[in-house]
Amino acid sequence: MDASAGATSVESPFVTGLRCLRCGATYAPGAVDYVCNCRPNRGSDLGTLDVLYDYAAIARAVTPAVWRNDPDRSIGRFWPLLPLPGRASLPPLPVGGTPLLAAPRLRTATGLSNLWIKDDGRNPSASFKDRASAIAVARAQAAGRAIVATASTGNAAAALAGQAAAAGQATVIFVPKSAPPAKIAQLLVYGSTVLAVDGSYDDAFDLCTEACLEFGWYNRSTGYNPYMTEGKKTVSYEIALQLTAQMGVAAHNPERLVAPDAVFVSVGDGCIIGGVHKGFRDLLALGWIERMPRIYGVQSTLSPALYNAWRAGAEIPEPVHATTRADSISVDAPRDAVKALAAVRATGGAYVLVEDAAILQAILPLARLGGVFAEPAGATAYAGLLQAWCDGLVTADETIVVINTGSGLKDVRAAMEVTGEVRVIAPTLDAVRAALQ
Ligand SMILES: *Cc1c(COP(=O)(O)O)cnc(C)c1O
Ligand SMILES: [Zn+2]
Repeated sequence: MDASAGATSVESPFVTGLRCLRCGATYAPGAVDYVCNCRPNRGSDLGTLDVLYDYAAIARAVTPAVWRNDPDRSIGRFWPLLPLPGRASLPPLPVGGTPLLAAPRLRTATGLSNLWIKDDGRNPSASFKDRASAIAVARAQAAGRAIVATASTGNAAAALAGQAAAAGQATVIFVPKSAPPAKIAQLLVYGSTVLAVDGSYDDAFDLCTEACLEFGWYNRSTGYNPYMTEGKKTVSYEIALQLTAQMGVAAHNPERLVAPDAVFVSVGDGCIIGGVHKGFRDLLALGWIERMPRIYGVQSTLSPALYNAWRAGAEIPEPVHATTRADSISVDAPRDAVKALAAVRATGGAYVLVEDAAILQAILPLARLGGVFAEPAGATAYAGLLQAWCDGLVTADETIVVINTGSGLKDVRAAMEVTGEVRVIAPTLDAVRAALQ
């Protein structure tokens, strides 16, 4: 089983160990690669591990001012809080440093006067997943692993493929054959070995887990590999740094950061939302922010496993048969359920459910009022905010951050379902006149 997978030589001096969120067992740094042995290896009920840090040592090594003044805008500047031996171990394809947009026309349209869009579609492979895949490649390379594999709905794989290409790391990718063509094209272009599984994402996930155990590959799969949370949490550091800079607070107290009141993020397996939570928890533990934001997870009515568990007060979600058009959040049995439920429950947030029609419709205001072209799973977070605003979960002057997790170029067919087809005209001025009438 996984606990015997072997120690690696890739540990950070700031990591003190790993703790199982199911049974509480703790492990020395590097003693286990994936999940705790206390649970079987399938479905949502995993012995999910949390990476532990020596915050006192970190506070001696870095400060918000050090981050602010670092000319490198990528996640490398956060390395004392990353599970890496040093920042140089990151692949040479910088990740993060994405913009936090004020989006004035969206503020006017919604009446939410402190709304921000964190556009993580602007990462090297055009999704949030680059934040995690950079860590996977760094750890695999530092440990001398020949092959990194992952199961993915598409974006995690594209991110792994891109990071691996830059670093010269071989990869094997398991995706459901229904993944959007743009995502599969990315995998092929970056040179991965791509296995399109005739089955669901969950089938691809289980097959990847088995193959990694059988062939000794390093497994990046979300929820199963505890280090993916650690890459994803960097978005929270950036949000806090960017809000602080925008509000001019740093001028008064350079060692303090500002957290938003609420963060909205779409949820499939639950790794991103768990990462958002971990990032703010780190900042709180360091004493750099004063309070947690409320964290809101948004799911489709056609992939509601975590919403259902949250409503029912359950620890482990019941699997669903997910069919949402937002492919990146189409998940039967969420793999990072423990962290995903804690993120909402511990912060006074909520899970919010939206219809697929509302998800696709949300692509338009984000693009037409904000200039942000999101894939359906990215627009889901904005659709969830609109729902939460209707339900009275947020107020007009709160500082609210909506994370766009993926670029609209990932799935242009979904976008054109809401825009309609383009008009074709003859190459004449008369045709232009006729078309404009
Ligand atoms: C993976 C992904 C999500 C969901 O992240 P989870 O960690 O599975 O909850 C949301 N949006 C996009 C674009 C993604 O690629
Ligand atoms: Zn355990």
